[in-house]
Amino acid sequence: MSNVYININYSPETCGWCRGTGNDRSTHERPCRICEGLGSVLVAQPANSCAWCNGNSVDRIDTDKPCRSCDGTGWAHSLANEM
Ligand SMILES: [Zn+2]
Ligand SMILES: [Zn+2]
Repeated sequence: MSNVYININYSPETCGWCRGTGNDRSTHERPCRICEGLGSVLVAQPANSCAWCNGNSVDRIDTDKPCRSCDGTGWAHSLANEM
């Protein structure tokens, strides 16, 4: 089903886990585990904040871990580490 993605427009948005700094939120060291230090992730447009974490990238239940729904990007329908 890879062709499902071909017609979707992806644009870089600020990585929610590092808030664009490129530093990992929990270790405070580079690189951010979500965006690999880029500070941005690819998000399907129009961009929507992740409903599970409200866009803050932290899992609602495991609050020291990246959100299970968006993989810590803070965005719905995002692609981490694929820039
Ligand atoms: Zn990041
Ligand atoms: Zn999320």
